[in-house]
Amino acid sequence: MSLDVLAIAAHPDDVEQTCGGALIRMSEAGYRTGVLDLTAGDMGTRGSPEIRIAESEAASKVMGVAWRGNMRMPDAKLENSLDFRTKLALKIREVRPKVVILPYWQARHPDHYRCGEMGYEACFLAGLRKLDPETEPFRPSKILYASLYADVRPSFIVDISAQFERRMSALLSYTSQYGEMFEGGALFPNEQEIRERLAAVARFYGNQIGVKYGEPFVVKEAIQIDDIVSMPSRSI
Ligand SMILES: [Zn+2]
Repeated sequence: MSLDVLAIAAHPDDVEQTCGGALIRMSEAGYRTGVLDLTAGDMGTRGSPEIRIAESEAASKVMGVAWRGNMRMPDAKLENSLDFRTKLALKIREVRPKVVILPYWQARHPDHYRCGEMGYEACFLAGLRKLDPETEPFRPSKILYASLYADVRPSFIVDISAQFERRMSALLSYTSQYGEMFEGGALFPNEQEIRERLAAVARFYGNQIGVKYGEPFVVKEAIQIDDIVSMPSRSI
């Protein structure tokens, strides 16, 4: 198998919130996209691992994702151990993504930053021939960090104005998480609340590049630009 882009995240539905728009846009452009969730969200208050995996598959169909996997690592107990790191590196060898998207390396939830750290190290390990003599070494050429929930200046922002509604539908495929529910005896308008919150965040980043909705990313290295005359987004 060979993917163009693989988003690795700690929990099902993380990708739909942080970089689903960019994945949808790349799939619309003809690239083969993939998602690898490290856990099935077993510690979540609502739903079960089986339900969340089924929902993540429904969300993948909405996003036009070519491949989705789940490592079934323990939710809320994710450790950057040699065992987990090696398993992840071997999975990267299997799906051979040119570009990997990871969660930003600082976050409130430990699973999120551990996923970022473990993903980074696994991408490196995957390229070492002696990691496993049975499988071909492979190293992704680019690592992007999805920084939507991090309070940092993005390295670049992807215009997802045309993909926003599809990303919203993908997220709402997780009915165990975002379906209507009773709270305090009244029906809580969950979907509307989520829609407004996601739209506000996407609008905030879109505004920075002069479009309606955007998704932010950070890269550790400098970005090469060959044509400085036709650079998009105006200076303020
Ligand atoms: Zn998460």
